[in-house]
Amino acid sequence: MKASAFAYARATSVENALELLADQGDRAKVLSGGQSLMPAMNLRLISPELVVDIGGLAELRGIAVKEGILTIGALTRHVDLLKSTEIAVHAPLLADAVTHVAHPAIRNRGTIGGSLAHADPASELPACMIALAATIIVRGPGGERRIAAKEFFTGIYATAMSPQELLVAVELPVAPKGSTHFFHEFARRHGDYAIVGLAAQAVIIDGRFADLRLGFFAVGDRPLLAGAAGKLVNVAITPAVLSVALSALADELDPQEDHQATPAMRRHLAKVLLTRCVAALLCRPELDAG
Ligand code: FAD
Repeated sequence: MKASAFAYARATSVENALELLADQGDRAKVLSGGQSLMPAMNLRLISPELVVDIGGLAELRGIAVKEGILTIGALTRHVDLLKSTEIAVHAPLLADAVTHVAHPAIRNRGTIGGSLAHADPASELPACMIALAATIIVRGPGGERRIAAKEFFTGIYATAMSPQELLVAVELPVAPKGSTHFFHEFARRHGDYAIVGLAAQAVIIDGRFADLRLGFFAVGDRPLLAGAAGKLVNVAITPAVLSVALSALADELDPQEDHQATPAMRRHLAKVLLTRCVAALLCRPELDAG
């Protein structure tokens, strides 16, 4: 299938893109890497009247570190994240996660801004953003807004942005000294969207979690910052403590049924991931014995 007829405009600046989007309601769509937008248009799942191409805006591209904050421009491609020393050093969880996003051809075009704006609940990067306490920066007719990642994702393919706003960058606190991370997803094949996944960052002091942030994906209509982490912080981890955390996690999940898995299977896999995460981060394989 091919897309319905649409008008095309290539933005010359962020301000120009915002002018083009103004007064369009939801009739216009932003084009970044096109790896989700174009398939959706070709399948006629969406039929925008106007496509605003921001792909040429160099001001939205790049990675910088300053005063403990890592800033990533919206047009930074998945492949740029993979190759970046700044990301490898200051956000190793993200570096790990990107290897699971699709395939090289898609990673060469797809952007972090596009992935976050698309807000697929099975995507890796949104879960990383909540695990890493990112701030999403958007610009619109009313100026700039800074939105905590936890508040940004509001449902399946839905965010706190209006159609007149542009995602321009994300900011992440650099990984704390001595922090460690865990990333794993269950997928039918490497590069497929996950059936269930977990992106986690932790600080461990004297064998206990001093901090633990658990970003689950494909367990509901948006990425989940699991409150169950609270059951594991500042306590000695025993099988009983882990069991309490697993029960708390089960209460938080709201998995969907689809062609890949039933809700019961997703609940089971999320618990397996939390168990493996705790065992791996604490180097306690006996916790994962089951
Ligand atoms: P686009 O396709 O250009 O845009 C996506 C959506 O976001 C559109 O609605 C667009 O209007 C909006 N948008 C884009 N940029 C902005 C912006 N700056 N401000 C506001 N709105 C914006 N992704 C995964 O996470 N995991 C996977 O395993 C995975 N597998 C894939 C497999 C295949 C075969 C394909 C085709 C894609 C896959 N993807 C996967 C999606 C891929 O990662 C996309 O690159 C990403 O979802 C969207 O990025 P993009 O830059 O291509 O955005």
